Amino acid sequence: MQGLLGEKAFSLEFDLKSGLCGQRSSSKRMLSDIAGIFRNPQAAVERAEKDNPLVYEFYELPLPNHPGDLCFGTSMVYPGQVDGEYFMTKGHFHSILDTGEVYHCLSGQGMMIMENGAGDWNCLEFKPGTAVYVPKGYAHRSINIGEKPLVTFFCFRADAGHDYQSITQKGFRNLVVKGPNGPEIIANPHWS
Ligand code: MN
Repeated sequence: MQGLLGEKAFSLEFDLKSGLCGQRSSSKRMLSDIAGIFRNPQAAVERAEKDNPLVYEFYELPLPNHPGDLCFGTSMVYPGQVDGEYFMTKGHFHSILDTGEVYHCLSGQGMMIMENGAGDWNCLEFKPGTAVYVPKGYAHRSINIGEKPLVTFFCFRADAGHDYQSITQKGFRNLVVKGPNGPEIIANPHWS
């Protein structure tokens, strides 16, 4: 019956603190899956060999992917760092580039870093209650700068798809790292 999800009204429960939905299973990204996204991938590999923490998880609900359908779910980025760089998502563009998206922070503390192909970028803070609008054309990545899980609820057009490849190849222009007085936005030394 799961194939019919989205053709009829339905509701799901996402816990406001943990973000988790007991009725669905999440997609998980362990550190070993994404070691290459960190500025010090060697440190990420070494940490992954030790305890391989869960860096983030999210729900990919099997909703219809037609124009006019909406895709939604929660994303949980767990607290931690690799060589001073905060745990974060891979980040992506949408395959339909002209796709906006909204993320509403339910719990935790973080940043949403965004950049477009024309060189514009932005970094906005997440705290419980903050809704961040990601404009169409922008790659986006969530970063946990706190000590608890960063939980956001997202919604975007269901046919938009994900393009992880473009931003994985270039990297984001800017990184968020732990400085002596808190999070700092620095230029990515590997950006191309
Ligand atoms: Mn997105």
